[in-house]
Amino acid sequence: MAMATVGSVTRQIAALEISSKQNTTGKSAKPTHQKQGSQTNVSKLLTKFAAPNPFPESKSKSNLKTHHVKGSSSSSSISKLPTASQKLTRTPSPPQTDGQGEIDIGHYDGGFEIENEKRGEAVHGEAAEQLALDSSTSKSRPTREWHLTDFDIGRPLGKGKFGRVYMIRTKTEPRYILALKCLYKSEIVQSRVEKQIRREIEIQQNLRHPHVLRLYGYFHDEKRIFLMLEFAGKGELYKQLTKYGSFSERRSAVYIDQMADALAYLHAKHVIHRDIKPENLLLGINGELKIGDFGWSVHAPGNRRTTLCGTLDYLPPEMVEGKEHNEKVDLWALGVLTYEFIVGSPPFEDLTGYNATYKRIAKVDLRIPPKVSAAARDLIEKLLQYDSEKRLPLADVRQHPWIVRYRTKAPSTGGTQ
Ligand code: ATP
Ligand code: MG
Repeated sequence: MAMATVGSVTRQIAALEISSKQNTTGKSAKPTHQKQGSQTNVSKLLTKFAAPNPFPESKSKSNLKTHHVKGSSSSSSISKLPTASQKLTRTPSPPQTDGQGEIDIGHYDGGFEIENEKRGEAVHGEAAEQLALDSSTSKSRPTREWHLTDFDIGRPLGKGKFGRVYMIRTKTEPRYILALKCLYKSEIVQSRVEKQIRREIEIQQNLRHPHVLRLYGYFHDEKRIFLMLEFAGKGELYKQLTKYGSFSERRSAVYIDQMADALAYLHAKHVIHRDIKPENLLLGINGELKIGDFGWSVHAPGNRRTTLCGTLDYLPPEMVEGKEHNEKVDLWALGVLTYEFIVGSPPFEDLTGYNATYKRIAKVDLRIPPKVSAAARDLIEKLLQYDSEKRLPLADVRQHPWIVRYRTKAPSTGGTQ
């Protein structure tokens, strides 16, 4: 990560991550606006987990500001900003993009309010308890309390199954840009995915990796749950793939390297993704890949699971055949992804129907077109092994000649192998 970005990442993490509880108990920081941030903690986070800063600011650290701003409806406040070696001055200029001024978050169409009039209803009973999701009361990583009124809302980014997604910015410094995803509780209940959504949120909130979409916090009201997600500035990878048909081997290799990096991190935390496919991948402002959907992820502390899930084209033989499976399902999916990036369609796709696809997967009926280079072919074949134990481990994927050939920068993480 470029040094120029460190200052702003530090500010973002300091403001968003520091829990109000820690502030009041004074465990890790002074409870006042004294300029005494948890610099050590923050730098640890920076080197280990910080995502590349999507909002480049001016090189000079001297425009770092110090603030003590009350959250609009919260008892906590963003009171700490890093200081140790940094001179803090109160310059009035907001973070710059390219000298043009503050990043434009676009025009808000009032969608949240308009939709809330017509859509969804309050939920009651056990479901209401399950969906009373609030990161400020999270056991593992409590955040400050958040409310819809804490944000300026900008342009719509998309529509999901359970609600809309908007580009937003925190009203309080450091005016951090995020994506706010809304989910209607009653629709979650109708689809009977309360547990799955809860699990997705709990898993994602504990993950910090440059290629895993970060969940900064969440809160709810009577009808809705809101997720404060890292803003993926370049949108969906799937759209790019559709636009170009396929990717160059260089571009494919860079993505696969980033995927392998993220998967190694997830597996080390005993998280199996199980639903890797281009639709679940987003792109950061610098075009870097972000795994964005944890709906099917499962915490797997050593045990094997047999639930059938995932998208057909990306299912490994053991899942097609209803056998036990483990984290090696993600290796298979990585092979499918490599193929799809380079070729433009997944390897076992059979337009005559599901059964045909199942059969091709079970036989590992792999036909690699001649345009694919020998090195890429080799990696694909090593990942698409029927026997899950024979699939190339992630560490070896990252050392594979096809990956190494196109790796221009140092591996993106310091904290994972
Ligand atoms: P679906 O099943 O239709 O994919 P979903 O409930 O999974 O719905 P998302 O895919 O997360 O919803 O969000 C809907 C759209 O909003 C996405 O397709 C994407 O274009 C946009 N979007 C979601 N999250 C972000 C983000 N963090 N940054 C930028 N855009 C986003
Ligand atoms: Mg989605």
